Amino acid sequence: MAPMVKSTSRPKWQRLPPKNVYYYRCPDHRKNYVMSFAFCFDREEDIYQFAYCYPYTYTRFQHYLDGLQKRNMDYFFREQLGQSVQQRQLDLLTITSPEDKSDLENSVMQKKIKIPKLSLNHIEEDGEVKDYGEEDLQLRHLKRPEGRKPSEVAHKSIEAVVARLEKQNGLSLGHGTCPEEVFVEASPGTEDMDSLEDAVVPRALYEELLRNYQQQQEEMRHLQQELERTRRQLVQQAKKLKEYGALVSEMKELRDLNRRLQDVLLLRLGSDNLREGAEKKVVFITGRVHPGETPSSFVCQGIIDFLISQHPIAHVLREHLVFKIAPMLNPDGVYLGNYRCSLMGFDLNRHWLDPSPWAHPTLHGVKQLIIQMYNDPKTSLEFYIDIHAHSTMMNGFMYGNIFEDEERFQRQAIFPKLLCQNAEDFSYSSTSFNRDAVKAGTGRRFLGGLLDHTSYCYTLEVSFYSYIIGGTTAAVPYTEEACILGGSPQAWASPHPAESIQVWQDLTGRSGLWSPAW
Ligand SMILES: [Zn+2]
Repeated sequence: MAPMVKSTSRPKWQRLPPKNVYYYRCPDHRKNYVMSFAFCFDREEDIYQFAYCYPYTYTRFQHYLDGLQKRNMDYFFREQLGQSVQQRQLDLLTITSPEDKSDLENSVMQKKIKIPKLSLNHIEEDGEVKDYGEEDLQLRHLKRPEGRKPSEVAHKSIEAVVARLEKQNGLSLGHGTCPEEVFVEASPGTEDMDSLEDAVVPRALYEELLRNYQQQQEEMRHLQQELERTRRQLVQQAKKLKEYGALVSEMKELRDLNRRLQDVLLLRLGSDNLREGAEKKVVFITGRVHPGETPSSFVCQGIIDFLISQHPIAHVLREHLVFKIAPMLNPDGVYLGNYRCSLMGFDLNRHWLDPSPWAHPTLHGVKQLIIQMYNDPKTSLEFYIDIHAHSTMMNGFMYGNIFEDEERFQRQAIFPKLLCQNAEDFSYSSTSFNRDAVKAGTGRRFLGGLLDHTSYCYTLEVSFYSYIIGGTTAAVPYTEEACILGGSPQAWASPHPAESIQVWQDLTGRSGLWSPAW
């Protein structure tokens, strides 16, 4: 974990380098961990600000909602559900298709979904994997000037030198014979001593040169063998790379195709289920009950942005479901910069059992609405998700409830499993189900006890700091941009909500759809 800093001359929030941040157990704080950091205030006139995580203020939230309201979307409604102790707004958003769905339905169903051709010959087309075949390698590695092999060229040049020397040698002997004859004649014991005397110096030179020449030829042969061996190895590696590249591309194609098919299937299923008088299926999302947990707001904004988007999945979700979102349950705490409490010092996420209208008005308001919906026979509360941030764990993960009914317990585990499959930063292994006394009074625990077996209640936790992708060890810090732009692979978000929905249907056979928009 590394805190953030910004200053007048550097107006963008940045994380401090982790090497300047230290953690130690402090004896003055009952041996709890204390964080300290080194920081150089390099400009005297600057005003510096520090934060635990990217801030997300009440004002920013209000501006964001004002902006959405101005867009006049007929599937987005904003209302004031109540007020905080200091008279701040408790906003409630409803995202669902308007009653008259025919126009929207047509626009969704007429959208043609193009299914990509499954091409196995794409490698050449897209040029991602180049053909480093054997032929090519020869051309690349053995450039032959004037069509000759390099060894030939070398041979020729050395031979020419030797021949020239031999010729000179022969001339100095005054015989004018060919080199072979000179060599034979010059051999000891085959010539008379006088002529041998005359030839001693040039012949020794000649023999030296001949030895050098033979040595060079030997080295050349050796080098050629080495070169040949390297070439073969390169060819083999290139072949392997080519095969690997083809596999990767094929997998990518298949995954894309799968997603498209799911979208098509989803739209078809959607048309079947558009019937008059169907029960309203509600997904209820709350955030920022703990005001210091700003990632909660980033995730929540990502969800809202997706749900109001023109993505075909967002269309279908709006057709099938009613999303009720209370993104900021503790506006006073957020405004005042509290970490965990409300204005009056209450941890609101421990007062779901009996919230007071004057001490916990926002919680009271939301709870009343949920109970009202629960009692409405036309409404089915399918999901309740409360979004938090975690200061010591990495990735996103969930807390769920424990039920005596094994089947219900198993069903509850499906959603986090789907998230794990679809969001690379979500961890099922960190997800846990509990009934600790310390968590009594939380939204998830209270509603899990109140609602019937067809509802699912979770706490979604997101790391304040970073995530680790399966199979790797490096922690990737979350950034402000990544978490809002759901769809980016590094988002606090699943880029492929369609998969969740499809698998969800396969596993449960339920028509109630819910997809993580993050
Ligand atoms: Zn929390």
